[in-house]
Amino acid sequence: MKKDSLLVHAGRHPERHHGAVNPPVYHASTILHPSVAAMEAGGKTPFEGVRYGRFGTPTTFAFEEAVAAVEGGHKAIATSSGLAAITGTLLALLKAGDHLLMVDTTYAPTRGFCDNVLAGLGIETTYYDPLVGADIKALMKPNTKLVFTESPGSLTFEVQDIPAIAEIAHAGGALVAMDNTWGVLTFQPFAHGVDVSVQACTKYIVGHADAMLGSITVADDALWLRIKSSVAAFGHSPGADELFLGLRGLRTLSVRLKRHAETALKLTTWLESRPEVAQVLYPPLPSDPGHALWTRDFTGACGLFGVILHPAPKPAVDAMLDGYTHFNLGYSWGGFESLVIPTTGHAITRTATKWAAPGPSLRFHAGLEDADDLMADLQHGFGRLKASQ
Ligand SMILES: *Cc1c(COP(=O)(O)O)cnc(C)c1O
Repeated sequence: MKKDSLLVHAGRHPERHHGAVNPPVYHASTILHPSVAAMEAGGKTPFEGVRYGRFGTPTTFAFEEAVAAVEGGHKAIATSSGLAAITGTLLALLKAGDHLLMVDTTYAPTRGFCDNVLAGLGIETTYYDPLVGADIKALMKPNTKLVFTESPGSLTFEVQDIPAIAEIAHAGGALVAMDNTWGVLTFQPFAHGVDVSVQACTKYIVGHADAMLGSITVADDALWLRIKSSVAAFGHSPGADELFLGLRGLRTLSVRLKRHAETALKLTTWLESRPEVAQVLYPPLPSDPGHALWTRDFTGACGLFGVILHPAPKPAVDAMLDGYTHFNLGYSWGGFESLVIPTTGHAITRTATKWAAPGPSLRFHAGLEDADDLMADLQHGFGRLKASQ
């Protein structure tokens, strides 16, 4: 089945639910068992069947089945947020004395978790250049158990050579995990050597800025049991309504993404021609340093991109941002609405590589509004930028 058809069918079993098109939303903690024998029967693991709310209900299983299909993996584990999916993966796969290679462009809270939590547990993190490719070999240690990737980085948009990194990691006995939020649907992690793919479903999968949700998709059953056991041990379990919103969002993911990407390409192409703009960071642009890798490995894009302006005073940039009609200020992306955040200075942390933008930097999310309205919004913004200087 092609991806668009999978999005429609995955995780749906109307025959189990009186023919209802969508799986019902089970608001359940307690599950009643008809007899002691049924209660004691269980499966090989505590995670088979419907036994207790925290281990999952048919709503959870429907969502997990659908996400695994979309990511092209074996099985998935739903979590209560994208960050819980990341920390759940790290804690399941690493123990005291292990070494983690973490991409330098990773989502800031992931970096915070490595520095503040993993370090305290005796797990060492080395940050690496996102553009390292096969040269990651020089950073591998005998105790390197995991190489964590994120491509493109969600603030600066460097595209990683995932197959090259995966080959070296596997040869050194390490697993490869990826934060695939930007590449949802357009990057097939498991076809490129990734063992564990994480989604911040909060972004495009939910797609409507109204729920927090995450997923961990894995390549095989052994990894599933290892990570599921650990996630369950920490007591993570997403709520029924969040899972429902994730399932609902998935059905329209493909059409939404196409529109987000089409608008983003239109806006970024126009932005590149503007005198106020020093650089646009969006891999689908031929001028982007990651364009060749993106063309090789991705089948599409999304609505998230970066812009570096020529030097301008902060009050002028703030006036530009404060006055937007459509690009409102908010720390997220993937919803139907356009967003912007300033990423100048401390917002971008690098320790293995240098990040020195020549001027103020911004991150935009192109929403589902009319592209011409969005362009006019940006144009008026440049007017405020100029007027305030
Ligand atoms: C938002 C985000 C996350 C975290 O997801 P939450 O659901 O907000 O916890 C992880 N990775 C990336 C790239 C993100 O943008």
